[in-house]
Amino acid sequence: MQSNIPFLSIVAPCYNEEDVIDIFLEKIIPILEELKKPYEIVFVNDGSRDNTLEILKAKAKEYESVRVISLSRNFGKEAALSAGLDMAKGEVVVPIDVDLQDPPELILDFVKKYEEGYDVVVGKRADRTTDTPAKRLSAELFYKMHNKISDIEIPHNVGDYRLMSRKVVEELKKLPETQRFMKGIFAWLGFKTAVVEYKREERVAGETSFNGWKLWNFALDGITSFSTAPLRIWLYIGMVLAFISFVYGSWIVLKTLMFGIDSPGYASIVTIVLFLGGIQLMGIGILGEYIGRIYLESKNRPVYIVENEY
Ligand code: UDP
Ligand code: MG
Repeated sequence: MQSNIPFLSIVAPCYNEEDVIDIFLEKIIPILEELKKPYEIVFVNDGSRDNTLEILKAKAKEYESVRVISLSRNFGKEAALSAGLDMAKGEVVVPIDVDLQDPPELILDFVKKYEEGYDVVVGKRADRTTDTPAKRLSAELFYKMHNKISDIEIPHNVGDYRLMSRKVVEELKKLPETQRFMKGIFAWLGFKTAVVEYKREERVAGETSFNGWKLWNFALDGITSFSTAPLRIWLYIGMVLAFISFVYGSWIVLKTLMFGIDSPGYASIVTIVLFLGGIQLMGIGILGEYIGRIYLESKNRPVYIVENEY
């Protein structure tokens, strides 16, 4: 089913997913047909190094409902998602991972909620037993920490898999920032939101491209995008340290006045100097993190570059 303005747009970013695309389409198309409404599937090829683009091109030829945009290089999932959202024409838009970790059946529930009047329907991972314990623990810690220090609360275990109405997508497209932490941006937008729970599945094929280091950086991006608390905390650390130094300094002066000068003291001096040095370096590091972000934003580069559309 096709028309110029489809009811539903699926947005699927793909990075090195040659093994998965076939399975993905086989699974999702029957479900979309069930809706009995026009739909489109927008694939974003995020600079894949394997055969992904060739396969996607063939699919675009085979199915009228499949559109492909290919980015000029790998811009990362957040950027690829932005590209897809910009291209999607549907009245509602659903970003989804192609690896079928987000079960497509859920789309029917999403649409039901949308028809009940919700602008956003999020998929909540009620069961993450298929993720490694390390990933679950780090995710848990991240949500806790992020929500403590940010003004914007990211709901636990809610990913990019969701439905957004046209209204929400248009607001999203207005955001000027080039450093995009989608989870936070989605939460920041607000709107009337419904939650549908699901079980996070195992990847059907291929490999995850998020290893530990990439996830750590992702978490840092998340925190520095939505909170200035790490900057402000230095005020308090500084105040506490200054107070301690003052007390300690007074004690030394008093001691010298009362008992005269004694020479030992290298150990304590060296310890204090090193400790303060370390604290200062950390503070500078955090400042650097934010200045880096200001620098990147100020260049005002586009979030992604489209090489071609099919
Ligand atoms: N992805 C992307 N660009 C990247 C990395 C990932 O478009 O640089 C896509 C990937 O093809 C998949 C989705 O983002 O559709 C989620 O990636 P992955 O399954 O590797 O992450 P995980 O599910 O392990 O968090
Ligand atoms: Mg995955």
